[in-house]
Amino acid sequence: MDLRIQFSNSKELINLFKEAKDEHIEEYAVTKQTITELQKNSLQKVKNMRLICSYCKQIQNDQDEWKKASEITDDLSKITISHGVCPECYKTEVYS
Ligand SMILES: [Zn+2]
Repeated sequence: MDLRIQFSNSKELINLFKEAKDEHIEEYAVTKQTITELQKNSLQKVKNMRLICSYCKQIQNDQDEWKKASEITDDLSKITISHGVCPECYKTEVYS
């Protein structure tokens, strides 16, 4: 494309560049917002993750204390459980 023919005056060309720049700025803001949302979501997932001891079935709460499942006050619908080993069982079952 011959720009000399397409754009008869420089104002038209400048406006076109401005529009493209604004579009990029907008896209950047949306991308940044998406990344922030994703980071927030993964942080929340980590915060909502609890370990259950494979041996004694105690669950680690958000204060890093190991409690019986009946003593856990977290909203169970919001937490994800993963298997682990509590310090006591690590001593008696794993490291003995
Ligand atoms: Zn245990």
